[in-house]
Amino acid sequence: MIVSIDGLAGTGKGTLAKELARLYRMKYLDTGTLYRTVAHLVLENKLDPFHEPDCVRMAEQGMEAFDFKHIGNNEFATFINDENVSRDIRRPAVNEIVAMIADYPTVRAALKMFQVDFAELWSSRIGVIMDGRDIGSVICPHAEVKLCLDASSKVRAERRQKELASKGFDETLENCLAEVHKRDSVDESRIKALLDMDDKVVYIDTSDMNVAEVLNAAIDAIGHDKLKVAI
Ligand code: C5P
Repeated sequence: MIVSIDGLAGTGKGTLAKELARLYRMKYLDTGTLYRTVAHLVLENKLDPFHEPDCVRMAEQGMEAFDFKHIGNNEFATFINDENVSRDIRRPAVNEIVAMIADYPTVRAALKMFQVDFAELWSSRIGVIMDGRDIGSVICPHAEVKLCLDASSKVRAERRQKELASKGFDETLENCLAEVHKRDSVDESRIKALLDMDDKVVYIDTSDMNVAEVLNAAIDAIGHDKLKVAI
């Protein structure tokens, strides 16, 4: 089984996906970490993020070294050549350029292969939950359950600020809002494409919902009968 969770930055995809992976005992992949890995490698190698061929090179090399693993306590981490880069890929400099790099068609094509293979492998085993922007539309159009999360930009900026603070980065709300708007301008078209599909997408506006409420809405969509852990 494949569950796709798409939505803009700060809509709560990651929180929901991790909890669903635990309750349904499915494999989880945060696909944003792939794009962040590429952006991180571009910066690390002092390459120009405006130069698409260099970014593709980093995407191809990055995918050979990339891993995304459960590290206990329902926490997941991103590794490049066995080095935990979870904190590095969330730093503000990566946030600045990641949406632009993710917009290069050649980069998307390089990362698509990894994601399609991952979905295929795990859906046939224990089932897989993948979150991102184009999972239900491009990567796994055949997903059994497609969720699309949304929230107002103010709420999303506040969540981003909190998330950054928990990782040790101090950022003003104003800057978080600016970053949210900047990334939205690139990412919005992908979410619109998903919602425009004549399909079974379950749309959840999380602005005024708490985590438990969002979780319940998702479980209603996936099925209570498939739960592996009692709630
Ligand atoms: O989800 P997260 O905010 O970590 O993703 C970082 C960036 O990667 C997004 O702003 C988006 O531009 C890009 N992305 C994407 N497609 C995905 C996942 C992420 O374009 N499936």
